[in-house]
Amino acid sequence: MFEEIQKVEFTKEMKKDYTILVPSMLPIHFQLIVPILRDSGYHIEIAGGDTRQIVEEGLADVHNDICYPCLLVIGQMMAALKSGKYDPDKTALMITQTGGGCRASNYLSLMRKALRSIGYPQVPVISLNFSNLEKNSGFQFTVPMLVKAGEALLYGDLLMWIYNQCASHELHKGDSKKVLDQCVDKLTRQFQKNRYGGLKKNYRSILDAFAQIPRDDAEKPKVGIVGEIYMKYSPLGNNHLEEFLIQEGAEPVVSGVMDFLLYCFTNRFVDRKLYGFKRLTDLPTKLGIQILYGFQNGIIHAVKEHGVFQAPTPFKHLITLVEGTISRGAKMGEGWLLTAEMLELIDSGVNNIVCTQPFGCLPNHIVAKGMTRKIKDRFPKANIVAIDYDPSATKINQENRLKLMLANARMEEKKASGVHQPEKQPSKIGEEILV
Ligand code: SF4
Repeated sequence: MFEEIQKVEFTKEMKKDYTILVPSMLPIHFQLIVPILRDSGYHIEIAGGDTRQIVEEGLADVHNDICYPCLLVIGQMMAALKSGKYDPDKTALMITQTGGGCRASNYLSLMRKALRSIGYPQVPVISLNFSNLEKNSGFQFTVPMLVKAGEALLYGDLLMWIYNQCASHELHKGDSKKVLDQCVDKLTRQFQKNRYGGLKKNYRSILDAFAQIPRDDAEKPKVGIVGEIYMKYSPLGNNHLEEFLIQEGAEPVVSGVMDFLLYCFTNRFVDRKLYGFKRLTDLPTKLGIQILYGFQNGIIHAVKEHGVFQAPTPFKHLITLVEGTISRGAKMGEGWLLTAEMLELIDSGVNNIVCTQPFGCLPNHIVAKGMTRKIKDRFPKANIVAIDYDPSATKINQENRLKLMLANARMEEKKASGVHQPEKQPSKIGEEILV
């Protein structure tokens, strides 16, 4: 029989002495955001843990037909609670939610169910959302927190974008990571002193710092990473995909979170058009979109003006690329944004694309793997590989498929530069890859 799971509220009193655990996801962005929340009086910690243990924990606590990101997020939280490092009577869990129609909207109930099954039903689960999904009196965003977190998102997007361009070409291993850490420290100190604003100046100093890193000018295959948001960004989810591509001599291209926010805002107009929502909601949405456009343009302008690195594509252009390929009514999961990201990569000359596919995610199979044929028909040079991530997928199998994609990329580059490439006989490694 169906049994209702009680919600435990995170109260104002709990704020004083509770540790709030958050799952890992966007490494650079979270390094900036977590100290902002700590300075506002919340004892935030990012849950860590061994990948295999997290997967095992997820399998034990979540039904095995639930999508892989959900399994990992819940597995990571439960493994942290069971590690003995945190007092379950003084710990809360927090996750972000967009309120879309996919399984992500069930994370909270599944998390509470898992807590009950491991014997910690008293642990509050906080939903971090801007769609009025759930409220907790003990956790509230103040205006300074919001402003700082917004800025941290912008810096995170820029740092991630530039780091990938540098780390793949650095002459001395580790230089880019050092500069990244220095930038994060500097920005964190500014936030601690309540110094915000000054985006332009900070963009400039970030770009200057990275530009000083000695780099080669070797032609390396650029590889775009797209996929379900958790799989795209989380090293736990995608088995450290960016790091792997850099090790293999490729340059990862990963677009920022700003595109996802703009996608969420833009979808409100799609809803109105398709389902006749009230026009009243238009004004704040339009305003929000204009503000985000302005912020994104600020980054793009700074990178272009600096002149050393390649600039990201504006969302205004990205949105036009899906016309004739996918309806903007496809908006479960990452929806049409995922298809748009693949088209945008090709449009900007990045033909090699890794599509990170989580097990159990129907929406993203449709807008990613499901669109591959259509994209390849339009752009025959597109070299798209869909990599499945699930509890039983082996890293070696994923890496072999990535290596095969990189081999194709290199062969195409040689062909394009006029170097003759003899026909290759199928080799044993090829057979292994296809297993
Ligand atoms: S988009 Fe897919 S993987 Fe992500 S929460 Fe929804 S169903 Fe799960």
